[in-house]
Parts: sequence; structure tokens; C-alpha cells
Amino acid sequence: MRRLRNVKIVATLGPSSSDYEMIRKLHEAGADVFRLNMSHGTHEEIAEKHAIIRKIEKDVGSPICILADLQGPKLRVGAFKKGEEELENGAAFRLDLSDKEGDATRVQLPHPEIFQALQAGATLLVNDGKIRLKVDACGSDFADCTVVNGGTISNRKGVNVPDVVLPLRALSPKDRADLEFVCELGVDWLALSFVQRPEDVYEAKALANSRAKVLSKIEKPAAVAAFDEILKVSDGIMVARGDLGVELPVQNVPPIQKRLTRKCRAVAKPVIVATQMLESMIESPMPTRAEVSDVAAAIYEGADAVMLSAESAAGDFPVEAVTTMNNVAEEVEADPTYGEIMAASRTVTRDSIADGITVAAREIAEATDIKAICCFTQSGTTASLAARERPMTPIIALTSVQETARMLTLTWGTTCVLTEEVERFKMAVVAAAKAARAGGFATEADQIVVTAGVPFNQAGTTNILRVAPCEERLIFSSDPE
Ligand code: PGA
Ligand code: MN
Repeated sequence: MRRLRNVKIVATLGPSSSDYEMIRKLHEAGADVFRLNMSHGTHEEIAEKHAIIRKIEKDVGSPICILADLQGPKLRVGAFKKGEEELENGAAFRLDLSDKEGDATRVQLPHPEIFQALQAGATLLVNDGKIRLKVDACGSDFADCTVVNGGTISNRKGVNVPDVVLPLRALSPKDRADLEFVCELGVDWLALSFVQRPEDVYEAKALANSRAKVLSKIEKPAAVAAFDEILKVSDGIMVARGDLGVELPVQNVPPIQKRLTRKCRAVAKPVIVATQMLESMIESPMPTRAEVSDVAAAIYEGADAVMLSAESAAGDFPVEAVTTMNNVAEEVEADPTYGEIMAASRTVTRDSIADGITVAAREIAEATDIKAICCFTQSGTTASLAARERPMTPIIALTSVQETARMLTLTWGTTCVLTEEVERFKMAVVAAAKAARAGGFATEADQIVVTAGVPFNQAGTTNILRVAPCEERLIFSSDPE
């Protein structure tokens, strides 16, 4: 499906978006990637959503990317009898290990190691920091707190403990079971929550064993500090502003977002900017002006993707939220300033033949009236390099590997097309021209750029760049081979 923008939209699925009709509507409104949040829902429910997405993919005939977000060592409270409770400022509230449903006086915090590490005076933040509790007294299985900032607390809300160092691994036993489950189901990306060090990523990659790409969520101060090493071993990054803005002062988040986004682009790895982008649209069909500016800012920074969390998963206006993101993206990208910023922030990298060819592809496309840059890609690398250039000419990624087509759907600007395996370059040009015409990128009168690697069907061989006509007869009469 052709989009009139380059930045991608990730939509989290949840109770507001769980059936075929709604998920299809979200896809048609602009969602390129669906995020399955492993913090919520049973394996059965996850499998159901997965099957629906794959069915839609088949019905619309273009690849759709699935990202499974592993909960990680995220601390969460248990469930409440009424689903939620109102906590008043100054009230007493207890956290304990009992799995009895909670009420206005207590709830479960099912993490014994936290009670071990807690001390009187420590702060506990609940629900993205909205609720603040101060620990008055604690033992090995409880913490008696005073509510400093009250608010609504509901089932399984997240808990952060910023002033206590917690001895936790990035993959809990639940994460390992979830990872195995979703890898067997077949997802394209795994998101790792609360990554603190490169070793956390190695561990996940070893378990995934090439069945899915691994994306690190940056939401801990430790991950920001070790970012360069984490980026090196990750396939992609998420700037997870929700927890990041709780673990660090909120004003630290925008500069970190800018820095991380640039670093990811420089190494051609996709970066998602996430959380609270259109938060008010959970309850309102209209975003705030500040939210629109926030989505726009992430796009102007060159992010590969912007993400919806509760807006699409649990809100009242999931389709409107996706439509809003789509409209903002189209408007930003039509602004000449956007192209200027993308060009000004381009890093010069010519370390390989593939680098040189993708740079040349953009330069040729921009200097002439080329309608599309068509990249044959096996592993996805060449298409990622083409995307790093942030060309103002559409990129069509052609591959015979379904996993590559799906995985690349997260990457800026790539329209992914699954092709038959091609043996000869001329047939590659024919397939590229056909894809460009079918996608509405070009007519028979137009020209395209095609990059490929010969011999075909081997990763890392990009060595050809050809400017080609879109008309089949001309391809055959003009092609040297
Ligand atoms: P979450 O991650 O929604 O899984 O918490 C994103 C974030 O923390 O921003
Ligand atoms: Mn998070």
C-alpha cells in the first residue's frame, strides 16, 4: 500500500483494536507496523491478533510488520477488585505480595526482590510517574506508603523506583517464554524493555536465533550512558519516553531523543520515537496543538517511525489517532524545510560499495526527474542504506525474502515489495518497473533508478546501479544485457 509520507507509524494493539475490522481500518488509515504488547494479554490473545494481522497482510497484498514488545523487568502492581481506585493525597497505601485483588488501601506488587531493596524514604512512582508514593516503613513482603501525589491507580500499572538500584536482568522468565512463543508464531521485531547493557541484547539475540530482529528500548539512565555499545549490537532502537521520563527528569528526554535519533540514522538502523505522542486522543477525537508539534518534531528530527501506545490500544479514537499522525506526517514532509533538514543532517559515509551506490542513487534521483529508487535487497541492508540518505524520491525495496520485506516496513521511506527470485539483471529491472507502476510511483513514460547485487540472491553483493525506463519494451531494447 502506497503511503504519501516516509516516516512510519507504529500502532499498539489492545482492547480498542482487537478485531479484523478495526485492525484493517488502522492499517488503511496509516499504521505500517503493529505492536503486540506482551505486558498485556494471554498467549492465546496474542496469537489471535497475530493471525488477524497476517490475514490482513494477505488480503491487502503488502507486507505488514509485527513488533512484539517484551515486558522486561517492568514492575507492575497487581489487579484491583473494581479495576481501579482513586488515591487521595496524604492517604496511606500498602504494597504487598498477596495476590488478593486490591482496593483503596492496598494492592499487590509481585516482586519480592523490590521489597528486599526498598528503604524507608524511597519514592515509588506509579502509572508513568503520575502517582507518587513515599515509603514510610517496609519489610520483606510489604511497603507502607503515604500518597504524595494521588490519582487513579488501575490494574497492572507500571511502577518505577528511581532512587533504588534494582538487581534485575533484562529478560525475566516470562520474557524468555514470551520470546520463544512469539518467535515461533513469527514476528519481525522483538522490542526489549529496560535494556541496561549490551549483554542484555546479546542474550535476546541468542534466544531469538535470527528468527526476529532485536530492538532495544532506551528507557533507563544506564542505557543512555551505554548507548553507543547498545546501538552497535541492536538492530533498531526505541526512544521509550514513558519510562525514560520517569527514570530521568522529563526535561532530559528531548535532547536524548534528538541525539539518539541522529546516531541511529548515522548507522542506518531504525529508530522509533514512542509514548504519549497523542495522549489526549485516548479520550478526545482532537489532539492538542502541543501533541501535534511533538509528532512533527520527531519527524523533522528524522525518526524512522512514530508510535501510538494507549491511543490505539485502549483509547476511544484509535482510527482518528492514526489518521492524525498520518496527516501531520504528510504535512511535515511536504514542507521544503523538512527536505533541507534531512539534507543538512546527512552524514557522509562511504565505507563500502553499497554505501557509494546508495549515495549515488539519491544524487542521480535528485538531480533528474527519477520517480523511484528501487533497491533489490536480500538482508535489507541496501534498503536501509538507501533510507539513511533520506532521499526525497520514494524508495521501493524489492526482495524475495518475506521476512526482509516485513522487517523493512519499519524503516523510513521504504515501500516493500515481495518479488519472485530473479536470476538476470534485466528481469530485475522489469520487476522494479512493474512495482513502480503498480504502486502508482511511475508511469510508462518515467524513469527509475535500480540498484542490485549480481549474483542475485546473496546478501551483501550490491554492485549495480542503473537508470532505467519504466516501459517494458524500452527496458528490453535499451538494456545492455
Ligand atoms: P512501554 O514502553 O509502553 O512498554 O512502557 C514505552 C515507554 O516506556 O515509553
Ligand atoms: Mn516502558
